[in-house]
Order: sequence, then structure tokens, then C-alpha cells
Amino acid sequence: MINVTKTFFPPIQDFNTQIERVWTNQWLTNRGELVLELETKLKEYLQVRSILILNNGTIPLQIALKLLGQHGEIITTPFSYVATTSSIIWENCTPVFVDINPEYLTIDETKIEDAITDKTTAILATHVFGNPCHVERLEKIAGQYNLKVIYDAAHCFGVDYAGKSIFDYGNVSTCSFHATKLFHTGEGGAIFCNDSSLMHKIYYSHNFGHDGPLAFHGLGINGKISELQAAMGLAVFPHIDNIISERKKVTEFYHSNLNFDILRTIKIREKTKWNFSYYPVIFESETQLLKVQKALNEMQIFPRRYFYPSLNNLQFVEKSAMPVSEEISKSVLCLPLYVGLSQSELDKICKIINSNLC
Ligand SMILES: *Cc1c(COP(=O)(O)O)cnc(C)c1O
Repeated sequence: MINVTKTFFPPIQDFNTQIERVWTNQWLTNRGELVLELETKLKEYLQVRSILILNNGTIPLQIALKLLGQHGEIITTPFSYVATTSSIIWENCTPVFVDINPEYLTIDETKIEDAITDKTTAILATHVFGNPCHVERLEKIAGQYNLKVIYDAAHCFGVDYAGKSIFDYGNVSTCSFHATKLFHTGEGGAIFCNDSSLMHKIYYSHNFGHDGPLAFHGLGINGKISELQAAMGLAVFPHIDNIISERKKVTEFYHSNLNFDILRTIKIREKTKWNFSYYPVIFESETQLLKVQKALNEMQIFPRRYFYPSLNNLQFVEKSAMPVSEEISKSVLCLPLYVGLSQSELDKICKIINSNLC
């Protein structure tokens, strides 16, 4: 069976080596030695100024929205994973959708200003499939209207834009280290913030608000990651360059073997060093997509409809029409992309797709 993704498992000896350190230390959580070491390694690898590793990629969105959203209207993209929208509602803010650019698939920066009201407090945009939003334009709008910018950068491990980490953009940026993501700790995530006083608030927010054992800075929640997850991260980390280069090869195979007279794929923004995190193909219609999907499924190949439905159509949000996002959501399929896909498997996938396009 070939799925859209397959979790990268490092050699078990590498994991055992890390786990033995946990037993030696007799220390399981509360920012132990392994978590701190993983933070140091990631900070250096990603070339970011600050990083706090958390227990998943959703809690950083919630913490950022709690601190910056202030129960206001949050301008956001309808084309993302459900966590982007549900975090907004969970934090008692209101999502206000702005349609996406049909080529880059990120929020359409030219439509943001029309959606701003006096209740707007922040923009929460996703660098979808690791493709950066128009960060310069978003920053400019945010400055003009006094808004905060939060980036859901769950897909962005290793992405650079204009010569620096994509995590360095926005007031706050987040990442997910879920098992299905490019770099993973099983469950895990991170938050990035270059404003040291805001980072201080984020830091205490992720640990119940503690200021030592007896005092509290303020309100907090539990966003801590354990040593067991950090052990997985430390075992995966040495393979990261190989993971990215293997994914690049798969991407190149798709690029040169799929029928792009009929299909299209995402346009990666100029000045981006991409990470090959997903391979979305956009069909001419949903009917065409369903036909291809059925043919692939019959051969035990399971791509995923990332992202469907368009988030403005979720039953718990107020209805609004987002024609571009709805159209893309209906016609996009993410193809299998992971380390270890063989040439013959890739060849089979491309042949099935190309022969089912009419
Ligand atoms: C995976 C993902 C998340 C959530 O991350 P978890 O680590 O699973 O909590 C949030 N946003 C996007 C766009 C994602 O793909």
C-alpha cells in the first residue's frame, strides 16, 4: 500500500541511544536535557534567532491567538488544514476569510484590505505546502492598520525566503513536528518569535504561567513536550538533509513525468528555497480528480485531498463565498511523497494518473 506520506523512522539503535540518556537522567519532562539539545540543534540548523519547542503544532497557534488575537476578527486563509481555523474559534476569535491566489495557493494579499474592520486584530496566514505568503505585502498592511501577523508555518521546516528562515517572518510563526510532517518528533511543534518581551509571555504561557514553583506571571496552559518525543527528534535530525534531498528527487520525477498539458501544480514563490514538503496536483475538474483517485485506489495507492473542504465551508463557521479556494479544494490531490518511494512505484503512479485524464 502506498499512502500520501510515510513517517520517517530512523534506525532503532539511534533512537535507543537517545532513550538510554533519558533513563540515565531519570528525567522525563519539564524541559530536560534532550529538549534543550534539540532546540539548540534546530536553532542552528534553521538559522533562527529564537525557538521554543512545544507539544504539537496547534498549541502554538492557540497561544499566539490568545496573546495577539484579543477576541477580535482574524483575517485568515480558507485553504489550509482545519487547525488554522479551529484554533481561531477555540480562542474565541472570529475567522474572516480572504480568498487565495490561484497559483501560489496562499492568501491573496490584494484582497486583505477589503476585509479589515475596526474589530480586526490579526492576520493568521498559512505558508501552504511550504510556499511562502507574500510576506512583504502582509507586513506592510499590518503596519498600516496596526495588526499582528501570525504565520501557520506547519509545512515549512527548512524553508528559506529571501535569504533567511521563513520562521523569522511575522510577529509569531509556528511549525508542526507531527509524524506526517517533514521533520518530526512523533507529536510536537515549535513557536518562533523575535520580540523578546512577547517571547517571554509565550514562554510562561506554555508552562501554566509559572514564575518559579510558587508564583505566576499570568495565565498559562500546558504546551510542554517530553524527553521521549525529543529523543525521536534527536534520532531523526541527523537524517534531515537526506530526507529533503530524497523528497526533491520524488518531486523532480513527478515534474518530468506527469502530463502538465492538462494538470498543473503549485507555483513556488520567487526567492524561496523550498523543502519539497507536499506534491499537490490540480486537476481540470473534480470529476477528473475522482476518476484518477479511484484508479489509484484500485492499485492500493492513496493520495490525499489536501485540503478539502475549503475552510469557509466548515459547519461551525459563518458562511462566505471563497470561489478560488472552493475551486482549488475540489480539484487538488496531494501525491505520495516520502523517503523510500521507488522509481517503479513512481512510474506506476504517473502512468495511472496520465492515462485517466480524459
Ligand atoms: C499539521 C498542521 C497543523 C497542526 O499541527 P499538529 O502538530 O498536528 O497539531 C496546523 N496547521 C497546518 C497547516 C498543518 O498542516
